[in-house]
Amino acid sequence: MKVSLVKNILQANDRIAEQNRMLFQEKGILALNVMSGPGAGKTTLIERTIRALDGEYRIGVIEGDIQSTYDAEKIAATGAQVVQINTGGACHLDGNMIRETFDQLNLDEIDVLIVENVGNLVCPAEFSVGEKHKVMLLSTPEGDDKPLKYPLMFHESTVLLVNKIDLLPYLDCSVEKIRTEATKINPNLNIFEVSGKTGEGMDAWFNWLRKSANGTA
Ligand code: MG
Ligand code: ZN
Repeated sequence: MKVSLVKNILQANDRIAEQNRMLFQEKGILALNVMSGPGAGKTTLIERTIRALDGEYRIGVIEGDIQSTYDAEKIAATGAQVVQINTGGACHLDGNMIRETFDQLNLDEIDVLIVENVGNLVCPAEFSVGEKHKVMLLSTPEGDDKPLKYPLMFHESTVLLVNKIDLLPYLDCSVEKIRTEATKINPNLNIFEVSGKTGEGMDAWFNWLRKSANGTA
């Protein structure tokens, strides 16, 4: 009973997500679903990305949080179009929540739509929002055992950003182990080592985004 209920919810979501995907395609928008545990650095990464690609792409952002408008305010300071979704307790975004933001965004003025999912390493990976790619962050303080413990998100993602590499000297975290385990789960994963704080390694991520936005990745 419970299993079939969960299956129905996922199928209903997939239908709406597919409609979102078709709309993005029609409008030539690259949609990315950015996921991670809380505090891995999603908002900072998005801020830096908007500033770095300013003048190249018009980036719009949908901010998902259980509560508060804190992250949306940070994004708004970059000048980008941004909408905040407060899920009111729900631990992931779904296709319907994204669809409901469309009357608040001017999609004709957006080339790249970045959806910042709720901070949670588990169920955001199960719910498509209509994105072309799932992009996940894992920050070095979270530890190198995360691919083993939370394989689904690594499996579903196109990109893994290993963030906060500036902290590596202070941590027992092996990026090599993350690479090895994540690649076992998903051999096609594009892995970039970055620091959202110092900017180290970010160019490789920007170049991946450029290639994707231009339809070649
Ligand atoms: Mg955030
Ligand atoms: Zn959830």
